[in-house]
Amino acid sequence: MTTLEVRNLAKRFNGSPNAAVNDISFELSDNEILALVGPSGCGKTTTLRLIAGLERPDAGSIRLNRILVASEAVFVPPEQRGVGMIFQDHALFPHLTVFDNVAFGLSGKTTAEVRTRVGEMLHMVGLLSHSKRYPHELSGGERQRVALARALTPRPVLVLMDEPFSSLDADLRAGVREHVRGILKSMQATVVFVTHDQEEALYMGDRLAVLKKGELEQIGTPEEIFHESNTRFVAEFMGHSDFLKGKVTRDGIQTAIGLVRQIVDLPLSTAVEIAIRADDIDFHVDGSGNALIIDRFFRGAFNLYRLRLDTGQVIHAINPHTNILPVGTRVQAFVSAEHSLTVFTQ
Ligand code: ADP
Ligand code: MG
Repeated sequence: MTTLEVRNLAKRFNGSPNAAVNDISFELSDNEILALVGPSGCGKTTTLRLIAGLERPDAGSIRLNRILVASEAVFVPPEQRGVGMIFQDHALFPHLTVFDNVAFGLSGKTTAEVRTRVGEMLHMVGLLSHSKRYPHELSGGERQRVALARALTPRPVLVLMDEPFSSLDADLRAGVREHVRGILKSMQATVVFVTHDQEEALYMGDRLAVLKKGELEQIGTPEEIFHESNTRFVAEFMGHSDFLKGKVTRDGIQTAIGLVRQIVDLPLSTAVEIAIRADDIDFHVDGSGNALIIDRFFRGAFNLYRLRLDTGQVIHAINPHTNILPVGTRVQAFVSAEHSLTVFTQ
């Protein structure tokens, strides 16, 4: 079943020359988490606010469980859409206990019903023992879980999350997101999860929708987005790709660092660029090699090297953390990828 259907959605703010959201369409199935990802200002929050009913679209339509909630003729207000929202700042009520914060969204229920449902939800997020505490007595991660419990308690049709972990410390974030993803999955929630962080999007999303300047560049599984980028923007933004210049030959693509054996459906001699990541490139020290080490970044588990090819192009390569070589070392770089690479014509 389709929970959310967005069709040709568009929104431009007064006085702005560019559309914040420009002709976006996508669908979301039951129990699916869609990660909406893109750089700051690309229209993620505006898309969420349109779905929630906090903004009116200029054009297009939104359906929730097949019911039209927004179009040029129809506008269902936010409180009637059955959508739960979680923002970056949690927005818990400081003067209410954890229990009362979670109970806040439940109306028209008996005291016993409220106690049961809130208890269930606090148990689900692992905070039953904290129900009498106030928000200031919780860690950032715990506050985030209270916000999640509060959003899920009224059984929303759809959960919208806008950069929910961005106020958490980096060392907390990985643990919290794993915990939160587990909770969302066990609740079978349908979720649009917004983030500007590529890694977080790949982790959270069953599918990803990549936005650029208000437009949907690509939608697909994390693997498709990462390995089969449709556009240079997606390859660059999601994969930190370099673009290695080459020419189509009979045997593959000839580049400055050797032949990449890959069949491409393009005429011989076509100039192309191959999207290539640091883990697709390897090198060994060679005084008459084709590249120079111009930088090294120690990343703990590995070293990230920046290499300048003799053609002037700069590419990146990953090497084991024990392999430490000085800047200025001449090396022979080569493509070590064992999967097919995405090729763009220039
Ligand atoms: P994101 O969440 O991806 O960072 P937003 O959806 O917040 O992006 O913003 C998209 C674009 O719309 C930006 O250029 C932003 O400046 C503009 N914008 C957002 N909200 C408003 C507003 N209320 N009034 C005018 N412009 C806005
Ligand atoms: Mg935003």
